[in-house]
Amino acid sequence: MSTNPYAWIEESLATIHRADWYRSVQTIHGLPGATILLEGREVINFASNDYLGLAGDERLIAAATIATQELGTGSTGSRLLSGHRKLHRDLERAIASLKQTEDALVFSSGYLANLGTISAIVGKRDLILSDQYNHSSLKNGAILSGAEILEYPHCDVEALRTKLSQQRQNYRRCLIITDSVFSMDGDLCPLPALLEIADEFSCMLLIDEAHATGVLGKTGTGCVEHFECRGSQLIQIGTLSKALGSLGGYVAGSTAIIDFLRNRAPTWIYTTALSPADVAAALTAIKIVQQEPQRRIQLWQNVAQLKQVIQQQLPNLKLLPSSSPILCFELSSAADALNTGQQLKSAGIFAPAIRPPTVPTSRIRISIMATHKLTHIDKLLEALSSI
Ligand SMILES: *Cc1c(COP(=O)(O)O)cnc(C)c1O
Repeated sequence: MSTNPYAWIEESLATIHRADWYRSVQTIHGLPGATILLEGREVINFASNDYLGLAGDERLIAAATIATQELGTGSTGSRLLSGHRKLHRDLERAIASLKQTEDALVFSSGYLANLGTISAIVGKRDLILSDQYNHSSLKNGAILSGAEILEYPHCDVEALRTKLSQQRQNYRRCLIITDSVFSMDGDLCPLPALLEIADEFSCMLLIDEAHATGVLGKTGTGCVEHFECRGSQLIQIGTLSKALGSLGGYVAGSTAIIDFLRNRAPTWIYTTALSPADVAAALTAIKIVQQEPQRRIQLWQNVAQLKQVIQQQLPNLKLLPSSSPILCFELSSAADALNTGQQLKSAGIFAPAIRPPTVPTSRIRISIMATHKLTHIDKLLEALSSI
C-alpha cells in the first residue's frame, strides 16, 4: 500500500500552529513611510527597516525611473556575462568611499552577500566562531562553507577567547562572524574587543552592518565608525535594503578580497545582477546619507525621546538592552506576544511580535524612523500603557 509522501507537510503545519509559531503575510498598500495602509487601515509604522524614510523618497523614485527608462527593467544576466553596467561599478565605488575601504562588491541581497562571502573564504579545514544571536544569513553561510562551526554565547568575548585558545591551533583559517547591530535585539557587538581577539588569534573578522549602515557613526557609515575603529582588518557586509531604501547587499573590504570574491563567490557569479532601478536608487540614497546628516540626527532624537518616556511612564516594560533604533520588550510566551501585537494593531500601531524560532524569547519589536513625528511616538506610548 502506498502512502502519501507529502502527508508530513500537513502534520508539520499543525505542529507549527499548536506552538503559536505559525506565520502569514499582511498586505501593505501605497508608499512606505511612518504611516502606512495595512490591510486597508492607516496605522503608525514601527515595523520598517527604512530608518531614514528613503524607500518612498521622491529622489530615489526619480533615479529608479530614469535608470529604468535608460537601461531597462532587467539586467539580463550575471555580472560576469551580460549583466554588468557602469552603474553597478559606480555604486561599488560609492559604497567603498562611504565605508572607507579599498573596494566593494554589490550582491543581489544581503542574504546572498553573507552566503557567498562566508562560503568562499573558509572551508573544511577551517573554523568559524559565530555569535549565538547571529542573523540567519550568517548562520547558513557558515553551514554552506563546510567549516567547523562553534557558537559562542551572545557578545561573550571571554567565552570566545577560551574557545579560540582551545581550538585555534587545530585549524587552518579561522573566521569570526557577527551582526554589528543585532537585528532582533538592537544591541551592538563588542567590536573593539573582537578586533583585538581576531588579531591575537590570527582570525579573519566579518561583521554584518545591515542595521547599522546609514544609522550608526558620526557620518552614518556604521558600527565601525561608531566605535572609532579602523576597518582595514575587517570584512564588512551590509544591505542596500534597510536605511538605503532599495534592494541588494554588499561586501566592503580590501582590493584583494573583493577581487577574490568576484572569482569565487557562487551567489555573485551564478545569479542575475541587480536591476538598474535598484542600483540607481541605492546610489541616490548613499548621496543623501552623506549630504543630509539631519535625517540621522532626527532618527536618534526620536530614539532618545521614546526611550526616555518609556523609562518614565512604563517602568514595568521589560526592555531589552539596545543601542540602536531597534527597541524590543519581552513577553512571557509566543501567544502573549501575538496577542499584544494584535492589540497594538487594533490601536493603530504596527509593531510585530517576534517569536521562536527567530529568537529564543518572544517579544514585540519596535523600529524607529527619522520620519516619525512626536505625535506618532505619543500614540505608541498611549497604546502601550493601555495594554
Ligand atoms: C536583513 C538582514 C540581512 C539580509 O539582508 P537582505 O538584503 O534583506 O537580504 C542580513 N543580515 C542581517 C543582520 C539583516 O538584518
